Amino acid sequence: MPPFAPSLFAGRLTDRILSAAVWLTTPLGPDDYFGLVDPLLSARHPAGRIVAVRPEGPDAATLVIRPGRGWAGHRAGQYLPVGVELDGVRHWRTYSLTSPPGRPGTPLTITVKADPRGRVSPRLVRHIPPGTVLRIGPAQGDFVLPDPPPHRMLMVSAGSGITPLMGMLRTLIRRHPRQPGRPNVVLLHTAPTPQECLFRAELRDMAARLPWFRFRERHTRTQASHAGAAEEAPPARRLTPADIIGLCPDWRARDTWACGPPGLLAAIEEHWASAGLTTRLHTERFRLTPPCPPGSSTPADHVRFARSGIEAESDPTVPLLVTGEQAGVPMPYGCRRGVCFGCLLPLLHGRVRDLRTGEVHGEPGTPIQSCVNTAASPLALDI
Ligand SMILES: Cc1cc2nc3c(=O)[nH]c(=O)nc-3n(C[C@H](O)[C@H](O)[C@H](O)COP(=O)(O)OP(=O)(O)OC[C@H]3O[C@@H](n4cnc5c(N)ncnc54)[C@H](O)[C@@H]3O)c2cc1C
Repeated sequence: MPPFAPSLFAGRLTDRILSAAVWLTTPLGPDDYFGLVDPLLSARHPAGRIVAVRPEGPDAATLVIRPGRGWAGHRAGQYLPVGVELDGVRHWRTYSLTSPPGRPGTPLTITVKADPRGRVSPRLVRHIPPGTVLRIGPAQGDFVLPDPPPHRMLMVSAGSGITPLMGMLRTLIRRHPRQPGRPNVVLLHTAPTPQECLFRAELRDMAARLPWFRFRERHTRTQASHAGAAEEAPPARRLTPADIIGLCPDWRARDTWACGPPGLLAAIEEHWASAGLTTRLHTERFRLTPPCPPGSSTPADHVRFARSGIEAESDPTVPLLVTGEQAGVPMPYGCRRGVCFGCLLPLLHGRVRDLRTGEVHGEPGTPIQSCVNTAASPLALDI
């Protein structure tokens, strides 16, 4: 007989009470009333309450978030869509989860680096107090730690790109606290200065304690790669594939996870592809890379928004979402980062270019994400 599971029993009981309450609350659902009493009780509109904010160096903070009833869990490496109300408008951004997957109700963590010119991240880092309720979406992304993990892993990150890797490392520690030899992980990380290196103390402590983990850091504003204290010195070069090979000579034998700025990821992807190792490389981008720099000579393409009867010229560096908005089309949108698929629109004809990869794609009738695609030919969208 299976052991008595109180939380499972309570969950089923709650579900039965909720379904019995539907007739009382129609036309609204019971969930709508629960959400009014406490946003964390709503399963339809998942939310989380910030229970702590921990500074991480000068420009970043870790937010500890207790998820409410609608949270369905995550895998190490996935990211969390977060809806933040600023001046009455909800802005959606995505942040990698830095906490290992846990039981329902276990607090989650995200670590946010303030972009000085950004709208949301400086507020999250400096002005959002504990107790604030944020809307959250389901965890997403396929940049995840396999279970079981491969025997040899290489992780490469720069700046805030360390966050999904930190989620994976904390998960590995939970699964394999001290076992020597399995898995074997090398982490190469760059940050402008030691102070700006997120999780530095924890990573150095892990490297000292765990025989299976090696950590090498490079500070681009102080000195070249080292494992000790920083000294003032001329700026170091940014990390390149040649550096990675030098720091991790058995890179070919490892499955690699890389997260950082577009230039680093593009160089790594090219190098791994030329070595025939594309299938062993996993990358995550926080920012889009326009394939054509602003002001490039690529001509604009004509875009027709068929139902609205509006026409516009599409700049090759500008997402169709922005082109439509600027032309006055009521464009649907969500995260504006290619994550939530809230901006999908059927393509009637023409081709689009993915601003993240440069790939030209799209067949008539297929839905395209307007927030991460631009026109690659004259085209029409069904809106
Ligand atoms: C999968 C994923 C995971 C992520 N994980 C993390 C994480 O763990 N930690 C983290 O810190 N970040 C993470 N990010 C990045 C994060 O989602 C935000 O993009 C980041 O915090 C900046 O948001 P913001 O609102 O402050 O900036 P935004 O207001 O979105 O602005 C971003 C930048 O664009 C520029 N900009 C904005 N509008 C314009 C315009 N009209 N013209 C020209 N320039 C403009 C701004 O100057 C700014 O530099 C992740 C992103 C993705 C896609």
